[in-house]
Amino acid sequence: MNIETSLLGVPITIRPTAFGAGVLSSLVVALLTREHRVLLSTAAGMLWYSADAAHVVGHIVSSQLVDAPMDGVDFGIYPMSVYLDHEVSPMQHIGRAAGGLTASLSATLVLAMLARMVPSAPAKQILTIAAAQNGLISLVSLLPIPMVDGGVIYANMRKLQH
Ligand SMILES: [Zn+2]
Repeated sequence: MNIETSLLGVPITIRPTAFGAGVLSSLVVALLTREHRVLLSTAAGMLWYSADAAHVVGHIVSSQLVDAPMDGVDFGIYPMSVYLDHEVSPMQHIGRAAGGLTASLSATLVLAMLARMVPSAPAKQILTIAAAQNGLISLVSLLPIPMVDGGVIYANMRKLQH
């Protein structure tokens, strides 16, 4: 029971497991909050997908900028970028991997600044949750493991040095 959709012209397959991340996010926030618990945990569940979407848009834009466009997104627990052409240059690999990271880091900074500027609950908490979600995605993306953006970037930076 997959859902087929598209974002900026890129086909996206949403698998049932995609709902897991939002539910988990919502549960974590429900456990960590007392006031406005229902509002904040519901917001957290939905906001998780906006953080995922920001990351994916970053990849779509950067992959087009380096002329090695993304072919699709396989959205399970997390949105995995699908590229059919693996014979691209190290700079193109780095470019298309770096877009997601750049988008998530930028979103984290902007949301954290907004959270500081907004004086009152629950808007402040909602912005803080959104910043934390984008921050978490940024951190995981930076990990130097294969398949993850960080791993792709490090591996291709090493290739460039040879
Ligand atoms: Zn990514």
